[in-house]
Amino acid sequence: MSHLEHADDMAVVSYSAEGLQRHLNTFARWCGNNMLEANATKSWVMIFGPIPSVIPVLTLNGSMVRYTDRFAYVGITFQSTARNIFTSHYAAKASTARGTRYSVLGIESYIGDLPPKEGRLLYMACIDPHLVSAADIIVDVDNTALALLEKVQRSFLRQLLGLGQHSMRAPLFTELGLVPLQYRRLILAIRYLKYLISLKPNHYAKVALEDSYDLYLNNHPGYWMDLVYALQRLRFLVELPSLPSLTAELCEKLGKAVYTAAMCDLQLDVDNSTRLSLLHGRREPLEKEKPKAITAVLRHYLVLVVNPRHQKAITRLLVSQHPLAVECLRYKKRYHKEIVPRNLRRCRFGCASVETVEHAMFFCDQTDELIQWCTTFVLAMSAQLPEILVVSTATATAVLRSLVFNRDAVCQVAKFAHYVFGVFADTALVWPEGY
Ligand SMILES: [Zn+2]
Repeated sequence: MSHLEHADDMAVVSYSAEGLQRHLNTFARWCGNNMLEANATKSWVMIFGPIPSVIPVLTLNGSMVRYTDRFAYVGITFQSTARNIFTSHYAAKASTARGTRYSVLGIESYIGDLPPKEGRLLYMACIDPHLVSAADIIVDVDNTALALLEKVQRSFLRQLLGLGQHSMRAPLFTELGLVPLQYRRLILAIRYLKYLISLKPNHYAKVALEDSYDLYLNNHPGYWMDLVYALQRLRFLVELPSLPSLTAELCEKLGKAVYTAAMCDLQLDVDNSTRLSLLHGRREPLEKEKPKAITAVLRHYLVLVVNPRHQKAITRLLVSQHPLAVECLRYKKRYHKEIVPRNLRRCRFGCASVETVEHAMFFCDQTDELIQWCTTFVLAMSAQLPEILVVSTATATAVLRSLVFNRDAVCQVAKFAHYVFGVFADTALVWPEGY
């Protein structure tokens, strides 16, 4: 195929400089016969593959056409000097998405904190389209390029949830009900594959697909091999059927298998993390149905807790991004080059216990303020959960889970967590001797 036309955006392709010049001459003649003017100053030449020692001079309508190493054709930026010709496209889209992210979050200077539900909606409407740009035809085989887009996605979601830039990856998706970009882009590529196989045999896109399949069978890179590679490198293997056996129904199943793989990936991260122990075995309290296990959904507390400070406190409580010692002493700091073992991350108010969420919320009795908050909270909750009156270190985690995953209690838990974290954050952390 020697030329592509999209309205007045045209691309002419040739294997040789002489061939390309002939195409340009024909193109200029055709334009002249059709009352059109080909403009050399708005045209560019790109060389894909080895650059010749003498760069050929190409002309259009007698004017020299300049060379470039990157150009956007029909919204997709091609780069001739990178191993992956779409490298620039990823960078351009990451940059646009980043700009949009600032605009979306800029709303907060007018309305205050953006609620997660609305933030998620704005993310899908304004940022996601840039991050999935051309995902149907550019299959992700380049981790570095994909990472540019993933960084923008994670950064926005963290800010929306009020989490630090080093918070864990999985909760960003499990709490907001989103799919990680690697999977989302692959699902879109499979949806496009379903469209491609539905085309008539003489449709150019169908011919190109079959061509890429032949290349794959002969062990040459191409669209099909990219798809196989992208599916194989998922954490949970998903196999691509052969092209002759592929049907619309199989494509649907394939898309669902990739979605399931994404959910298994997230669930495994949650289950394997000791920091996310409050989320282990969680059953989402639904509004009109019985609670059930759902890996990723917009969580009840992100909708029900409307006070932004309380809502951020309960989010930090659940994903372990709070100011308590059990979390903060996990990391090295400028003057503290050793990680403190968990059993030495003791309460900053002088208790012998490790400063965990359970200790801070139920057992720490070193400040009057904490005792007062805790007593009020326990009394308020005792009608709904009598076990809270006899809470012990053995039952504290279960009691806390019952309170958080109760739609009627969650607002009060969030408020309580906010005040408890505030009391601890107001007092400096105590680093044990030698750390
Ligand atoms: Zn204490």
